[in-house]
Amino acid sequence: MPFRVFATCDIGDPALNRLRESGYQVEVYPQSDPPPKALIIEKVASGIDGLITTLRDAIDGEIFEAGKGKLKVVAQIAVGFDNINRADANRYKIPFTHTADVLTEATAEFAFFMMGAVARKLWSSEKLVREHRWGAWHPFLPFLGDEVTGKTVAIIGTGRIGLAMIKKCVAMDMNILCYDPAYENHKYIGSIQKLMDMRHQLGIQRQQTTIKYVSFEAALREADFVSVHVPLLRPGESENPTLHLFNEKTLRMMKPSAYLINTSRGPVVDEIALAKAVKQRWIAGAALDVFEKEPLPASSPLRDPEIEDRCRLFHHFASGAVQTRLSPDPGLGMAGRCVQGLIDVLEKNYGGDISKMPYVVNKEAF
Ligand code: NAD
Repeated sequence: MPFRVFATCDIGDPALNRLRESGYQVEVYPQSDPPPKALIIEKVASGIDGLITTLRDAIDGEIFEAGKGKLKVVAQIAVGFDNINRADANRYKIPFTHTADVLTEATAEFAFFMMGAVARKLWSSEKLVREHRWGAWHPFLPFLGDEVTGKTVAIIGTGRIGLAMIKKCVAMDMNILCYDPAYENHKYIGSIQKLMDMRHQLGIQRQQTTIKYVSFEAALREADFVSVHVPLLRPGESENPTLHLFNEKTLRMMKPSAYLINTSRGPVVDEIALAKAVKQRWIAGAALDVFEKEPLPASSPLRDPEIEDRCRLFHHFASGAVQTRLSPDPGLGMAGRCVQGLIDVLEKNYGGDISKMPYVVNKEAF
């Protein structure tokens, strides 16, 4: 019997053809919106072996129950997996895979560009030109932006994407403050400090810069830019949950001249508090790629026209580059890595030892 796979979303033919060419029966949900949960349950209950999911699908005990005895793997096309109930997956002993690493550089560079876009007012500038409101050159009218070069950036979460963001900020002669309660990568941070020292000694950057781990509060109080690179962790899922890590209290710790950059997950930021912070100028602005509810509702206070010049909004696009999203090569693309994770489980690669499969997340269950 060929393996049967249902994909809740089209992840592109180059990757899906790897399955088809091996004789898999692949059904792809044809709409661009996610399927209703009832349809996922129906497909799983019909006896599929593998389920390809996106962050838009809530995968929990109901789904695993429907697939009991038949469903063998859930392959998520994303590094974040906060939509998958890990405890339920473990209870039903269903491995789920993700696509870490291949999107690290694309996401970090997008965060880096967001920082420049909001601080240097790229959107306001282009809007001015397009709306024929560009007057004569003037030293400070109609507005100025804030420099990024030489400023201090706080990196909240020094995992894969946080470290990649650090590397990019070095090129802008920035001082770097790091915060991560779970894992401090002193080897990497030491190497970055050496790089900063060398750039200074060689005359590549004028000021000596530093990188160090600090407390969350110190990071917020001292940084000109705060860039968030944490997973969404709800209370009970971690000793250091990240749900609403940015709220009225923590946003008020930031400098009035500072910007918040979020490419992690929307619920990490309390959006009501953030809109208030920007509107009342507790902080200078924000650039957001992710939201508590996606797509961003029409009623969101983040859409307030009064803050539009200092609030950049993007459509969960940080990993949205062609090779990163679609390459069938598991070493390059999310689609390729997603499909490989599924193949590893179904074809019993690594001697069938799930705990040895590189893209499986919940290894502890095996
Ligand atoms: P990672 O697991 O390598 O790094 C996350 C880091 O956050 C870890 O070092 C962890 O110790 C740290 N952390 C955990 N709790 C923390 C807390 N309370 N405070 C500070 N740090 C904390 O993950 P990654 O590959 O770097 O990805 C990070 C997140 O970025 C993903 O979970 C995902 O939600 C998001 N993401 C978004 C996009 C996008 O398109 N916008 C793309 C890729 C990833």
